[in-house]
Amino acid sequence: MDLKVTDTKKFHNGQEIPLVGLGVWKMRDEKEAIEAIQVAIESGYRAIDTAKVYENEEYVGQAIREAGIARAREALTITSKLWNADHGYDETLRAFDTTLKKLQLDYLDLYLIHWPVLAYKDSWRAMERLYNEGLIKSIGVSNFHQHHLENLFTTANEKPVIDQIEIHPLLSQKPLKAYLESQDIVHEAWSPLAQGGELLKNQTLQRIANKYNVTIPQVILRWHLNNGSVIIPKSVTPERIRANIDLFGFDLATSDMAEIDALNKDERKGSNPDSEEFLARVWK
Ligand code: NDP
Repeated sequence: MDLKVTDTKKFHNGQEIPLVGLGVWKMRDEKEAIEAIQVAIESGYRAIDTAKVYENEEYVGQAIREAGIARAREALTITSKLWNADHGYDETLRAFDTTLKKLQLDYLDLYLIHWPVLAYKDSWRAMERLYNEGLIKSIGVSNFHQHHLENLFTTANEKPVIDQIEIHPLLSQKPLKAYLESQDIVHEAWSPLAQGGELLKNQTLQRIANKYNVTIPQVILRWHLNNGSVIIPKSVTPERIRANIDLFGFDLATSDMAEIDALNKDERKGSNPDSEEFLARVWK
């Protein structure tokens, strides 16, 4: 598959998102976050994925203002997310306003419903308003299963452009990805490296990495790209940040892709929004 670092995924509304972005969850330290974003931008990243609940929107905003590239704001695709406690029409308008102020931006590229909880249809109406007013270039969702999307479609005027979901070789999400593709909704992989755990020691992945003279994380991230997903790997380590976007000098053979597919165990690192544990937590 012929891919370049500057390639993007086009949304059904005509906007685009770079294939690789920097995830900034757990970057709670100001200096660490700003330095990681700076290294990322220097390495060619043009997208940053934050959220209200990550408590670092201010740092992302500061890093954008300090970015040493021309027309930095226009060059970057910035995503943030509506937190579970902020659902509802008026609440969403207020939460978005706070997000924009923290980022010190006058528009957001992409705003997502973080989890499909509570009054997400009312929240979506508010997001549609912000989209129509030009304050958000694109609106989407995260952690939505097919049934959540079908429910949203019953009242939505705008279709989400993207669904950001947990995807990695232990949770390949083939059926949901196929459904999203059938709806012209881009799939974006969160925790694309399965949060950097045991998977990074897997023998099959090591053999494939040796074959291409790359690392296991690079094999995993290229697997995502070949599957058509947008990726947002997180790292605060400069050499890892650089390696995680250095994915375009090799390609994986079909047989390697199949071997990685076979690692799927439907094993989640995060919550399943349909689980009783999750529903009890968000409804309490
Ligand atoms: P990732 O799968 O991106 O893994 C991150 C971990 O892997 C960190 O511990 C990092 O360490 C390590 N790592 C990164 N690159 C390498 C490498 N090349 N070699 C070895 N280790 C590496 O997990 P995340 O959970 O952070 O997911 C990525 C992003 O997805 C988040 O930052 C967030 O933006 C988004 N997300 C969204 C969710 C949602 O509900 N919508 C839920 C979870 C995440 P170190 O930083 O120390 O280098």
